[in-house]
Amino acid sequence: MRELRTGRRITYLDHAATSWPKPEPVIEAVVHAMTDAGGNPGRSAHVLALAASRLILEARTDVAALLGVPDARDVAFMPGCTAGLNLALKGLLRPGDRVVVGSTEHNAVSRPLHALAQAGVRVDVVQTDSAGRIDPDAVERSVAEALTTAVVCQHASNVLGTIQPVGDLADIAHAAGAYLVVDGAQGAGHLKVNLATLGADAYVASGHKGLLGPQGVGVLYLAPGVDAVELTQGGGGSNSEDPVQPTARPDRYEAGTPNTPGIAGLAAAVRLLMAEGDAIRAEEQRLVRMLHEQLLEIPGLRVLGPPPGEERVPVLSVVHARVAADRIAFELDAKYGIAVRAGLHCAPWAHETAGTAGCGAVRFGVGYGVTQGDIELAVQAMREVCA
Ligand code: PMP
Repeated sequence: MRELRTGRRITYLDHAATSWPKPEPVIEAVVHAMTDAGGNPGRSAHVLALAASRLILEARTDVAALLGVPDARDVAFMPGCTAGLNLALKGLLRPGDRVVVGSTEHNAVSRPLHALAQAGVRVDVVQTDSAGRIDPDAVERSVAEALTTAVVCQHASNVLGTIQPVGDLADIAHAAGAYLVVDGAQGAGHLKVNLATLGADAYVASGHKGLLGPQGVGVLYLAPGVDAVELTQGGGGSNSEDPVQPTARPDRYEAGTPNTPGIAGLAAAVRLLMAEGDAIRAEEQRLVRMLHEQLLEIPGLRVLGPPPGEERVPVLSVVHARVAADRIAFELDAKYGIAVRAGLHCAPWAHETAGTAGCGAVRFGVGYGVTQGDIELAVQAMREVCA
């Protein structure tokens, strides 16, 4: 439980939407960027611009270190995971290409794929089970049906919490000469990611969820040689005389003035995760498991996704046999000051897969700063709201 400056108390369990509160060093780094490094990075040569350039250089190095990227130039900063996924998908796929994708994707994947399908890309969906587990053999069979350009998957579902077997899918994609594109929005931070060994050709992370950074920043990793065409040109400081977008990374993918304060905040968060990530992840897992087991004891409540004991990210969605999801979320907020999210969570495919597209669900997102007391309060409140 936290107290806002207004005096209002809040138990924040909406980390899957965005992490809150941000760690103090993140806030300090944003303020530092705006006060002491407020120039435009990569443009002018005065002290404030150089400070901003240095800040971004160091941020890129730290993000690369956290995610196991050997060459930091393969990391590009994005306005978010959605922007990075659009770049990876639209930058790699052309009319006539084929994509194989799982059935729990967020609309940051399903909408760009819908747009690409209208432009002549064939999109084939492999149905997961109702807990969101994809069967690698089913992906392999689908990939064998026709020439495939890319397999696209989530690292973890923002509704079901299910973790996908990314390494197996990478092997399947690569054996068929296809790329593996991974939506890491719910993975990075909550899961330890090593991109040097994971096998993803493109991995996109959200800066503001498990990575604990500010909103409006994300990370796009493209493996060496993966030649995604940039979606935006210009606005950058390198090779001013040249009419075409630079081809060198990361400049190719970072058109325009970057979100320097956001990147500074993300870098501070990444340093925190490098120091304390294992402990943070262990506590998230302990708390989500406790929440899971206790919610299962409430009559009429169904918990979506894998059962307790099976691995998941700290996301837990529930539906009640009688009390509607939006009613539950409203009462948790109004009566108990508990922040959760009801509805379809931008992921109608995942809800169709779970059989909850008609009613939606209530999602609890556990993350950094959540306490056992928060979980106990949430369980007690759920018992009362669902009674
Ligand atoms: N993919 C998934 C699985 C997500 O949960 C989200 C965030 N809701 C996104 C993509 C989009 O991330 P961002 O907010 O950084 O654009």
